[in-house]
Amino acid sequence: MSENPPVALQFKSSVQQALQAHFDSLCKISHEIWSHPEIGYHEHHAVQQLTEYIETSGYTVTRNFCDIKTSFLGEFCTGGFDPAQHPTVAVLCEYDALPEIGHGCGHNLIAIVGLGAFLAAAEVLKTAGTSAQGKIVCMGAPAEELGGGKVLLVESGAFSGVDYALMSHPAAVDVLEPTILSIDHWKAEFYGKAAHASCGPWEGVNALDAVVAAYNNVSMLRQQLKPGHQIHMIITHGGAKPNIIPDYTKADIYIRAPTSADVEELRRRVAACLQAGAEATGCRVDYGMNDLSYSGLMSNQKLLSIYKYFGENNGMRFMTLPPGMYGSTDMGNVSTTIPSIHPTFSIGDSHCNMLHTKEFRDSVGQPVAHHFAMKSATALALTALELFSNPQFQKDVRTEFDERRPGFMGKAPEGTDSTDGGDRSLQLPSGFNPGRRRSSRQFLIEMGLLKPMALEEKRGSIQE
Ligand SMILES: [Zn+2]
Ligand SMILES: [Zn+2]
Repeated sequence: MSENPPVALQFKSSVQQALQAHFDSLCKISHEIWSHPEIGYHEHHAVQQLTEYIETSGYTVTRNFCDIKTSFLGEFCTGGFDPAQHPTVAVLCEYDALPEIGHGCGHNLIAIVGLGAFLAAAEVLKTAGTSAQGKIVCMGAPAEELGGGKVLLVESGAFSGVDYALMSHPAAVDVLEPTILSIDHWKAEFYGKAAHASCGPWEGVNALDAVVAAYNNVSMLRQQLKPGHQIHMIITHGGAKPNIIPDYTKADIYIRAPTSADVEELRRRVAACLQAGAEATGCRVDYGMNDLSYSGLMSNQKLLSIYKYFGENNGMRFMTLPPGMYGSTDMGNVSTTIPSIHPTFSIGDSHCNMLHTKEFRDSVGQPVAHHFAMKSATALALTALELFSNPQFQKDVRTEFDERRPGFMGKAPEGTDSTDGGDRSLQLPSGFNPGRRRSSRQFLIEMGLLKPMALEEKRGSIQE
């Protein structure tokens, strides 16, 4: 960052006043979302709260954005807006909950941080004249926990007219660049032959043994993995009755690693585990990944440095996470599409550091969490306003993106070893065929989550 203060510093008090004016309403919306948890692609109540408030505040809203029922787009642009000259900045809202736990990831706060930043930036733009020009959009991004909402939005062209994307996520502490791993989601199905477990087990080919053997293979593999390389596997169908030799079983597998090359290496190893389980038991295995893989996060450092300035200027204290705290987000896929940031903000309860727990859920519903969330909303709004008021900054952000994008494979966590492709001598078994990948929309349709061009009211578990 240059030695001069950011241009948008002049808007700080206007942003704070705007957020103050909306604060009670934002808290109410957050509480509504928090107390009515809805899982991915079912966030109708949340979307209603957010879109109604955007409309009531005088802004245009498109519902069913990109033919996704629980996505939306709120918009405001300055008079004489010209996309060739003026930037379009998106602030993203998430609002989906976790099954059973509810808002254990605090997406009720992401929703009001995004909404608040949008409203504050729009209100400044209304009176800024030529000192800040452009378009600000508030994009509703559903299903971060379960269904790759942003993967679908990217695929649907939601970001084609957008130049920059901003969002932040609640956590125990303020962190500029959380450690985000790439993640793949696989399904494996094992086919054997049913038989009566008492009368003629020798007639059967046991598909449960195949999936158990595969699981044990994966478990043994885990102890040889580098830090930051992870495999999670559950058996989702293990048979019908104990007295029937199962002829069909099914497993869900997530593969996480720092870079796409690391993930590629793990794919080969996991494929070998699955194949071996099938071969040892005489079963057939069919496996592959869906196209909802989450990429690593390519945080734009120029954008982060301005966000940091405005965050610290507003009482935030940025820290480095201890090693071993990893996560994954579909914001990774946005970050390699347009310049983006995804920092975390403190919820004011530093003892509550584990996301996806009941304790975190309870903390993100407290009034103090809303006050802390507004610090991040202030910094996001001012980061957007820096883009609207500083053409050189726009160029610098874009240049950094263009330089990093071609070689970006993900970012290795501090102190860990990552590979540039691993042991290529270990070939993929023949059953592994990346060509089986389907489009995200197609996959969601097959999962029963999407109808062609519309969302289905069914529940499914895809990815988190
Ligand atoms: Zn989460
Ligand atoms: Zn989350």
